[in-house]
Amino acid sequence: LVSRKKQPENTVVELKGEKVGNGHISYVFGPCAVEGYEQVAAVAASVKEKGLKLLRGGAFKPRTSPYDFQGLGIEGLEILKKVADEYDLAVISEIVNPADLEQAVDYIDVVQIGARNMQNFELLKAAGDAGKPVLLKRGLSATIQEFINAAEYIMSRGNKNIMLCERGIRTYEKATRNTLDISAVPILKQETHLPVFVDVTHSTGRRDLLLPTAKAAIAVGADGVMAEVHPDPAVALSDSAQQMDIPTFDQFFKEIKDVENRLGK
Ligand code: PEP
Ligand code: MN
Repeated sequence: LVSRKKQPENTVVELKGEKVGNGHISYVFGPCAVEGYEQVAAVAASVKEKGLKLLRGGAFKPRTSPYDFQGLGIEGLEILKKVADEYDLAVISEIVNPADLEQAVDYIDVVQIGARNMQNFELLKAAGDAGKPVLLKRGLSATIQEFINAAEYIMSRGNKNIMLCERGIRTYEKATRNTLDISAVPILKQETHLPVFVDVTHSTGRRDLLLPTAKAAIAVGADGVMAEVHPDPAVALSDSAQQMDIPTFDQFFKEIKDVENRLGK
């Protein structure tokens, strides 16, 4: 169902007037984790000021260590919803447990399925049944075909609003947190009709690489870019090393819009 052979025209996912996959670049910005109202609102204000519509924030955090901050759960989703309503933004947040989906869909506009859950087939089916748009991230070591099959699980339940997100894969290379597989973008665009994002934050794990990789994503035909923004990354409860503060975010966005214009996007 997700195959381009089955449907030649691009899938467009509409979120609060933002048409993702419609030939322009969509941006998803927001903190790694929801830590409190003020923190999310500060980022939302900056997103809104740029004329953007999509806000991210993790409430259920799939952390590598059980001793790391696990997220605020439903309370985090409540904060996201309050901020999203105030700033008229669409909210994207990761859900890790199928049992939380029913309650979560009242708070969020897009269900994110994270890299660690790309082959959690029960979660994929539940997300397919939930009737909300889904942002599906590529698994840590998933092949492109496995990634496409995971999207097929969701669409096979009747949910057509799926966005794919390349977020880097695990290789021997240690200079970056993951290795951004930039060629996955044109391959996914050829093989499927779904919008394709590139998450520059989790693929690189490095603030200094956010802009160059975002440029590459746009040049290679991505429909969108995701990056994390925090009002004070130094005190962030997760991903402190790669989130942008607001002035850095402003500069990042200015430069990326210049690239978009130069590429005629
Ligand atoms: C995230 O986007 O918050 C996240 C945890 O990313 P990933 O699942 O790609 O590691
Ligand atoms: Mn993060």
